[in-house]
Parts: sequence; structure tokens; C-alpha cells
Amino acid sequence: MQVLSASWRTDKFMRYAFISDIHANLEALEAVFADIETQNVNEVICLGDIVGYGANPNECVELISKRCAISLLGNHDAAAVDILSTQHFNIHAKIAIEWTSENLKKETRSYLEALPLKNVKPPMTLVHATPYEPNMWYYITSLEEAAFNFQFFDTQLCLVGHTHIPIIIVLDKEKELYVHQDTSIRLSTVQESRLLINIGSVGQPRDRNSKSCYGIFDSDTGEYFYRRVSYNIDKTQAKMKKIKMPEFLITRLEDGR
Ligand code: ZN
Repeated sequence: MQVLSASWRTDKFMRYAFISDIHANLEALEAVFADIETQNVNEVICLGDIVGYGANPNECVELISKRCAISLLGNHDAAAVDILSTQHFNIHAKIAIEWTSENLKKETRSYLEALPLKNVKPPMTLVHATPYEPNMWYYITSLEEAAFNFQFFDTQLCLVGHTHIPIIIVLDKEKELYVHQDTSIRLSTVQESRLLINIGSVGQPRDRNSKSCYGIFDSDTGEYFYRRVSYNIDKTQAKMKKIKMPEFLITRLEDGR
């Protein structure tokens, strides 16, 4: 009988859901939580950017504070509470952060200010941007950048958000690095590999698919997979129009870009 390497297994089998880059899109977040309800999930983990761009920062933070076991700081969260300057943000993001900052309730602000940058929960390292210097908000947009970042976590899995583009990158036991060409992966079939997974975005997907994206990991079966969920984009866009968000931010939702 073949003995499987099972470093993904935890003492207690758990099913985790990972959400990220909600960006104050309440309709998307509610739709995702409704979908999570159907998936026998034990714990929901948020990888940051709860606010910025959308019209419901306070409502999204309230929901996440109630439902998520772990919640991490994103760069838009940091900018909204003045932990981070918006000097490297583009003009649309700057306008959105200004509105967000002015409209945060006191308790929302306190919640965001207290969020940590990183959490290590074996077999997972969790971070918004990159395991290397998470407070610098670098992006992983190439295999080279991914290879570099594999040196900065020790667990079998690292889950990130930030680019809004779901991707599974595998470093196998021969040290070969490649993009996994499927939306699910079973760890028993890629033995002794380590994975860097971008879980995609709930509130502003940018992979040409307008549906909300989130991930699930089952520590019993060793399976990771994505879920895509439709939500009422028209309603989200109408709210953004009402608060005068830039047109580009409104239309990009329906295009998923
Ligand atoms: Zn984001």
C-alpha cells in the first residue's frame, strides 16, 4: 500500500473558507456567506481589503467581525485608517479611500486598526499581499516573484489575496515551479509539493469573470477548490453611483476586470 505524505493534515479535520478583497461590496459578501452556508465550513478566514471602492464599508466590517475566525489587514484597510499613505494608490483608489475614510464609524475604524498583517496556522501561512515583508504590499504577478516568496514561509500552503486574480502555484519536490491548470487541487496527487494560492476576490474580481470568488480547503481530504458566486451587481453599482464613485470602478464590476 502506498503511504501518502500528509503534511496538510491537522489533528482535527477542518473545512476552511477563505475570503479576500471584499472592498465594501455588501451584495457580493452576503452572496458568498450564503454559499459558504451550503459548504459545511467550520471556519471562515478573511485575508483583508474589507473596505475601499464600495459603498458599504461599515456593514462589511460588521459581518466579517462576526463571522470570521481570523481577519487580516489589507492595504486598502490600512489606507482607510491612515496606517498607510495613499501616495502609491491610483487616482480611483485614492478617491475611494477618501470617501471610505470619511464614512467609517468609530467601531469600524477600531476594528481595522487592530488587524494583524499575517497569521501562521499550520499547514497554512495567511497574508494579504506577500509572505515576504507583508507590510510593503508587493504583488505576486509572475513565477519569478512566486519563487522568491516561497522562501519566506515554512508551511505547506500559503494563501494570499491582493491581485484579485485566483491562481494556484505549485513548487514540487523536484523544486519545479508551475501554475496548476485547474480550479481545484488534491494535495495527495501532488505529494510533498508546496502551494502558493491566490484565493481571488469577493467584491471586485479581475480575472474576466464578474462572479465573486472564494476558496475552500478541507484538511481531511487535502482538497482545495474555488467557488464562484453570482450576486446583484446592479444593486452594488447603483449604490456606488449614489456616492459618486468614479465610473471606472463601477463598470469594472460587470466586466470582472
Ligand atoms: Zn484589494
